[in-house]
Amino acid sequence: MKNSDACIKCGQAQIIGIGPEGPFNVANFIQAGLTNCSKVGVARYLCTSCGYGEDRVGDQRDLETLAKKFGPGEGAATSSR
Ligand SMILES: [Zn+2]
Repeated sequence: MKNSDACIKCGQAQIIGIGPEGPFNVANFIQAGLTNCSKVGVARYLCTSCGYGEDRVGDQRDLETLAKKFGPGEGAATSSR
């Protein structure tokens, strides 16, 4: 769901983008490490017709960072080491 798409819930094409890729300068981040440099920017898309919202990370490297940090592989919260 992006600005140009229709809402997947109500079908209306009244989507606004909020976040690093949107028209508004609203800080929306996921902390993926210890430093500010490891913040991953999240774009939020919101349907102004029904209120349905969706978060999206657009950068592939950021997705890999989050997969390493929060995924089921190494670095997961279940690790006992
Ligand atoms: Zn909608």
